[in-house]
Amino acid sequence: MHYFPLFSSFLFLLLQVSTSFALPQQSLVPGGIAVIELDRSDKLPNFKFKGKPVLISQQGDNYVAIVGLPLSLKPGEHFIDGHWGKEKSLQKKFFQVKDKKYTTQKIEIKDKRKVNPYAEDMDRILKEKKRKQKARKTYDSATVDLDFKLPATGIMTGSYGRRRVFNGQARRPHSGMDIAADTGTPVFAPADGTVIERGDFFFSGNVVYIHHGQGLMTLFAHMNSIAVNIGDRVRKGQVIGEVGATGRVTGPHLHWSLGLNQTWVDPALFLPKAE
Ligand SMILES: [Zn+2]
Repeated sequence: MHYFPLFSSFLFLLLQVSTSFALPQQSLVPGGIAVIELDRSDKLPNFKFKGKPVLISQQGDNYVAIVGLPLSLKPGEHFIDGHWGKEKSLQKKFFQVKDKKYTTQKIEIKDKRKVNPYAEDMDRILKEKKRKQKARKTYDSATVDLDFKLPATGIMTGSYGRRRVFNGQARRPHSGMDIAADTGTPVFAPADGTVIERGDFFFSGNVVYIHHGQGLMTLFAHMNSIAVNIGDRVRKGQVIGEVGATGRVTGPHLHWSLGLNQTWVDPALFLPKAE
């Protein structure tokens, strides 16, 4: 039986290798992601950033917190806080956020109503805003696959965070990545998840929200058509719709947003780093 411990540690190594160790890229800037190694593994960590639960991923023997950093976050020292298991003492883990200057983009929208909605549009816009806010708060304690697939083939613009001026008027910064592709190009689920919202929204056009677990959320907007319903479980790579030009757009493209702890961050951080 001398070989047995050796064999079991070999097996353990094999298991470690076969576990997905995908992690998003860390980017300690507003709109980026903090990847924080937690120094214990004996109990389940429960940590929050500004009161919102953060995604915890088990990486081999350790836990890692994956924290979305809002675009509006001030550079400087920040922290997540929480508890180990049922322990009472509040723990803090600090990290430093650097400044990042995002560029400004000027966009001409032909449908002026999408830039300056009519009074009669406001009711619809407010209702959709409430549905979006509700979707963003979805959370469960599921184990999350962080190994993401690009949701559409096309030309990616690294346009997350850009300040935008529509028809000469300042609007909210860009909360996702745009992928330019022809109408009808398939849109794939980037990872397993559950469809938590879908609709034809004033600004987003045909939109789908997928919750991947622990508040990790993806949103796909301006689609030509939608192939899934609220409550559907989707698998990584499953077609969820087609690229289109619905809502506030200049042409066909997929708008892809990625949320962590109720914050939209740069989705590019979840894709393999371009060489
Ligand atoms: Zn966009």
